[in-house]
Amino acid sequence: MQKGSINVQSENIFPIIKKFLYSDTEIFLRELVSNAVDASQKLMTLSAAGEVKQEVGKLKVEVILDVKKKTLTIRDHGIGMTQDEVNKYINEVAFSGAEEFLEQYKDKDPKSIIGHFGLGFYSSFMVSSKVQIQTLSYKEGSKAVQWESNGDPTYELKEIKKATRGTDIILHIDKDSKEFLEENRISGILNKYCKFLPVDIEFGTKQEQIDDPKGKKDKDGNIEKVSVDVPNIVNNTHPAWIKKPVDLKPEDYKSFYNELYPFTEEPLFHIHLNVDYPFNLTGILYFPKLKNQIEIQKNKIQLYSNQVFITDSVENIVPEFLTLLHGVIDSPDIPLNVSRSYLQSDSNVRKISNHITKKVADKLAGMFKKDRKDFENKWDDINVFIQYGILTDEKFNEKAKAFSMVKNAKNEYFTVDEYKEKVKVAQTDKNDKLVFLYTHDKDEHHSLIETAHSKGYDVLLMDGPLSSHYISKAEQDLGVSFARVDADTIDKIIAKDENIPSKLSKEQEDLLKPIFEAIAEKDKYTVQVESLSESEKPVLITQSEFMRRMKEQQAVGGGGGMNMMGVMPEMYNLVVNANHPLIMKIIESKGKKQKNLAKQSLDLALLSHGMLKGKDLTDFVDRSFDLI
Ligand code: ADP
Repeated sequence: MQKGSINVQSENIFPIIKKFLYSDTEIFLRELVSNAVDASQKLMTLSAAGEVKQEVGKLKVEVILDVKKKTLTIRDHGIGMTQDEVNKYINEVAFSGAEEFLEQYKDKDPKSIIGHFGLGFYSSFMVSSKVQIQTLSYKEGSKAVQWESNGDPTYELKEIKKATRGTDIILHIDKDSKEFLEENRISGILNKYCKFLPVDIEFGTKQEQIDDPKGKKDKDGNIEKVSVDVPNIVNNTHPAWIKKPVDLKPEDYKSFYNELYPFTEEPLFHIHLNVDYPFNLTGILYFPKLKNQIEIQKNKIQLYSNQVFITDSVENIVPEFLTLLHGVIDSPDIPLNVSRSYLQSDSNVRKISNHITKKVADKLAGMFKKDRKDFENKWDDINVFIQYGILTDEKFNEKAKAFSMVKNAKNEYFTVDEYKEKVKVAQTDKNDKLVFLYTHDKDEHHSLIETAHSKGYDVLLMDGPLSSHYISKAEQDLGVSFARVDADTIDKIIAKDENIPSKLSKEQEDLLKPIFEAIAEKDKYTVQVESLSESEKPVLITQSEFMRRMKEQQAVGGGGGMNMMGVMPEMYNLVVNANHPLIMKIIESKGKKQKNLAKQSLDLALLSHGMLKGKDLTDFVDRSFDLI
């Protein structure tokens, strides 16, 4: 028997392991199971090369829970280790200066040190009071050995009898870590990290219905079913993303999506990633139906390294807007065990994320080209994603010009260039500025949209959660200006040269203003008398584009310095159309009648904006009944 001390430079590595990895102890199982998978795959490779004499058979890794003995065993039938190899791989922990390391990683993400320092196997001490390795190498004439340590940090190494090739890692679960003796906890961890490992992982048994082996029949003559215990294999060794796209049907992609996210709505479409130069990357990204629930649907991409689950928080690994997608990315080239800030600056990560962006943009461009109608049908579901990309990723923005669309209030779709072309003539104002009209709500702005249409103008529908940001960006990029249909009277929003003369004299106009000022809330409305066309409404409520955007930005917390000025007040313009016959009638009336007519017209204007509420609304209804 050999006794010794695990070769670490600092006295005691175990307290460090415990301390640093504490917050994420469950990953010990991932580390041990993936070591077992590696050992199995290595054996298969050697066997394929004719270097293994014995029959290899179908390999599996077993996870065995023994609640009575308080042990958790990870068993493989892979290459195993000779005594020399145990000494080399387990005892000589390649660890340069634990002290220095301690200093360096003091404040970092605990996950970041695993694997980075070859701590995979040693992470087992996070949950164990004693760990045993029983192993028999595949090499001819090897003797089985047992290594054992309680992490103090001495070990014992001795020859044992072991009939089968491979390695058992036996964890004697520490009393502080009893949770890892619970079947549910273990199957939960396996399901999280090991779901797609390339070798069968067996954990306990499950019941399955099979035809009665004795052939017993029921009264209808069908063979009866009986329940039998069969090995419970927890993983799918051939997940869709490692297959070739030509071998997959649309249903296969859908069922894989279900495997990843059970009970969710079908995705819209997918992109199968497959790169082997200059880095390795496979994966499938799905476009979910986004709706407006961006936050809920974010961060669902799962990141794997050779089919081992690493994380589902991929911020900084893929560009922000891509985190709206779902699916799997698998790359052994992403340094998974280092800190996030390091990841951001890693050139591989940058290359990978640029590549994914390009692939996504190419896919969208391809879809647009191939079947525009179909693309338009999907647009409402993907526009948030595309706007997000346009806003946050300049490279994507550049490519998106080819397929980014706008939709108008008549539900017609245009590329931005097409739209510019469409409205150029009618909607360029006297200062040569091209104005895009828009609404955020077709119902609320129904009458304003009608007015715009009657003048030959078009109105865009901008009702997404990112619309206001998109509008600012589009104004910069396209050199146009956007104005909501209620930003002013339509003739002012798109000012033309022609001037409509007022039917009122100066004196009449001076008379008119105070009538409305007397009935409108003073600090909320500014009364303006304007000479509009007769077809315009007699009274209109507008809010300047600038004011409204300021308010909107303040509402989403982006107000910056504006917040220092306190909450911005709601301010509107009350525009009185001097040329409308009703206004003349108001001027010519007297006393109570005049006041009632003015009030009624103001209330109707408010009503059409959904702004008439509470007592004002009740009064309005009562007054209207009186009038009829
Ligand atoms: P890593 O897996 O990152 O190399 P580990 O500490 O997990 O670090 O393992 C150290 C080494 O011990 C492995 O590289 C491998 O050579 C050996 N080893 C660990 N587990 C097994 C196993 N189940 N079968 C055979 N060899 C193993």
